[in-house]
Amino acid sequence: MAGTKMSFLDLGRIDADEGYFIRGCGAGTYSNPNPEATVRRVAVIATVIEHPKAGPLLFETGCATNAREEWPTEAWEAFPVTVYEEEHHLDKALEAAGYGVDDIRGVIMGHLHLDHAGGLELFRGTDVPIYVHEKELKEAWYAVATKEDIGAYVPGDLDWRLNWQAISREETELFDGLILRNMPGHTPGLMTAQVDLQNSGTFFLTSDLFHVRDLFEQGLPQGWLARNAHDWWRSYKWIKQLQQKTDATMVYGHDAEVLEELQAQAKFFD
Ligand SMILES: [Zn+2]
Repeated sequence: MAGTKMSFLDLGRIDADEGYFIRGCGAGTYSNPNPEATVRRVAVIATVIEHPKAGPLLFETGCATNAREEWPTEAWEAFPVTVYEEEHHLDKALEAAGYGVDDIRGVIMGHLHLDHAGGLELFRGTDVPIYVHEKELKEAWYAVATKEDIGAYVPGDLDWRLNWQAISREETELFDGLILRNMPGHTPGLMTAQVDLQNSGTFFLTSDLFHVRDLFEQGLPQGWLARNAHDWWRSYKWIKQLQQKTDATMVYGHDAEVLEELQAQAKFFD
């Protein structure tokens, strides 16, 4: 929509085995039965969408400031946050983009894993709406309550006192030029966001439907982090078709190269 402007926040780096992101990476083969693990440095990313009517909105929030203490040991061992200077703290990154935490009028959660929902700590005790898909909210609470998937979600991120606003439909235009779609696969309730800008065209914020560009650009299936490979493939086909139709710019959940390219291009897109 005319007047919408968007900026990307760099919230640090995580080093993790590529097999988490891309299926088959690092797997032993006949000719190379014991390959060395390939660790990839990926980014933690949030996006500010300043909408002319809805105000500045945040798409995802990165890790908690004290992730090292708060995360289960297994989660930190697999996904250590290896670059996290003061500039990568959500409040400082917002400040650098020209916003205070108090300016944010809503938060959209692509999904609730611990490296995306940690920054919700800044919104405790406020009535800022936290938009999340109904399925994701249910899944996260279930995962933590039953301990079935507790390593991926942190109980503290799921504070019931936050102003949770559940999105129940498969596709919804939350505000003019801002469309959310439930695209399961990585998690059942994952939502991607389509943002239509007047000069810069359409953007898709994919959260972890695609951690890195390889998945979308080469059609490589998601690795160990995919919860449902069949759903993931259907979501991939859906967003691929939408991207071709709109010629959209893709922003992936953790691709450091794409983040750096976008940040080098412009401070904000409008
Ligand atoms: Zn993630």
